[in-house]
Parts: sequence; C-alpha cells; structure tokens
Amino acid sequence: MTRPVLRFAPSPNGHLHLGHARSALLNDALVRSSGGRLLLRIEDIDPGRSRPDLIDAIADDLAWLGLRFETPARRQSEHLDVYRAQVEAFSARGLVYPCFCSRGTIARAVAAAAERSGIPPACDPDGAPLYPGCCRALAPGEAEARRAAGVPHTWRLDMARALAAAPGPHRVRSVPVVRSGEGRGLSSHRIGADRVEAADPARWGDPVIARRDVPTSYHLAVVMDDAAQGVTHVVRGADLRASTDLHVLLQALIGVPSPRYHHHELVLDEAGAKLAKSRGSRSLADLRAAGESPASLRERLGFP
Ligand code: GLU
Repeated sequence: MTRPVLRFAPSPNGHLHLGHARSALLNDALVRSSGGRLLLRIEDIDPGRSRPDLIDAIADDLAWLGLRFETPARRQSEHLDVYRAQVEAFSARGLVYPCFCSRGTIARAVAAAAERSGIPPACDPDGAPLYPGCCRALAPGEAEARRAAGVPHTWRLDMARALAAAPGPHRVRSVPVVRSGEGRGLSSHRIGADRVEAADPARWGDPVIARRDVPTSYHLAVVMDDAAQGVTHVVRGADLRASTDLHVLLQALIGVPSPRYHHHELVLDEAGAKLAKSRGSRSLADLRAAGESPASLRERLGFP
C-alpha cells in the first residue's frame, strides 16, 4: 500500500480554536498509526480576511500542541494562476458561465420566484437559496460584452452540463476512524476500512467556483490542492461533509483521483453550537494565556 498522505488546511482568517485543534490532532494521530505523511496547507485565498500575523499565530499554536508538519507549507495565494487556468479550461468546455448578479439581485429573484409559485425557495446545504439561474440564460454575446466592459462577475458551475459531462453515479469513499485503548499513552486512532457513500452534487445548484475578487472558490482550490499535494486521506470536520458531494464531481471533471474522506464530529460550545471566533469561542491562544497546557488540552480532546 502507498504511504498515506494527510493534511491540515486552516484558513488564516482568525485564530485556531478547539475544533481546529481536534482536526490537527486527529490528522497527526492517523499519520502516526499509518506511517503516513502530514502536510500543512494555508488556505489564504481571501484577500480581505487573510492576515500574515495569523499565519504566524497558526504556526505557533501548532508547535505548542506538539505537531510537526512537512515544510514548506503550501499557500493557496501562491497558486492563483493554476486555479485561473482551470476555470478557463472549464469555460472552454462550456461547464461554467460568468454570473453578474449581486447578492441583492439574487435575493430579489429568489423572493419573486417564491412569491409567484407559493413554494419556499430551495436552499443549498449551507442554507443559501439555490441560484435561480438568471445569468445561465444570458446570450453568449451579452455575457462577453459585459465582461469586456469590466462588469465584475463570478464563475458558476453549470450543474446540468457538469453532470452531463461526468454522469456518475458520484460516490464518496469514506473511512471510519477506529479508536482503541483509553488513557495516556494507550489510546490510538487508526484508519478503518473503506465505505462507499452516495454523493448528490446537484444539491449545490450552480455553485460559485471562482469569486469576483479571486479566480477560485474554496471548493475549486481545495480539490486542486488535494490533488497537487497527493493527499490520499482528507480528515476534516463534519461541517464540510456536504461540500464533499461537490468535490467528488469537480475531481471527476478535472480528472484527478478522489481521496478517501473522514468527517469528524465537531467540538461544540456549551450551547451546542459550532465553535466560531465570531461568536466569542475561545481561541487556543486564549486558552494558552489562561494557563492551559498542551497535555491537558490533548487529553480534553481525546488525544492523551
Ligand atoms: N480551510 C478550511 C477551514 O479552515 C478547511 C478546508 C478543508 O479541510 O477541506 O475550515
């Protein structure tokens, strides 16, 4: 069997919190038990929110936790040309179209359609109403003219055409994590046997695969980078499970192998909500400052 390759891929938009720590520790534990490689990827495509000081803070937190990654870490902001070329290749195949709609235009079109039909709008797995397709219907000449005039636009995947080009059935190869032993030094985590889950990419409608400000989206960049880095096992939080349905379609369209996936349970706050800095969840830096040791944090998260 080839050596497993795992990665931890934080976005430097905020400080790491307990959920990130669990993900990083689980990746590390699985690398140790499988003799694999552990890579780090900085997902810094967001020019407005990514901050260099946060990249340094992430490195500090990971070192404090006792985690070591192969160097250098891959930085997505250094590969924008590669993502742009893929969007152009999709465009040449008629799989994407430029979308000039603002959020407000989309909200109004969705509300009007719901009003007319009396049916509430269908939403994607993140809870956003599915794009009503206004720009899909633009005449090619009209879209070209708007682009030539410099009207800002995203690129959306034309889901119907994408599914015609890669009909599937689409599947996610998932792996459980098998845990044995409890307590310091005894607990171990290893990668279990493959399972196959059905994937339904169409529930994303026509998703944005390149934003206005950057020539990619999270979905495209993550799929291209996992392939470029030879990642064999993607181990990340359950909040990204639905995205994987879209990722396997993008992998089929691009022609890269699909890794195996494990989506672990999220660390929740006292109210049972997902941790988020925006809701005041304590960062690892806060916990460190309050005197928490790496050992107690590892124990708390089940990695003694
Ligand atoms: N960058 C994403 C995040 O910080 C994780 C992406 C992934 O693991 O696929 O939430």
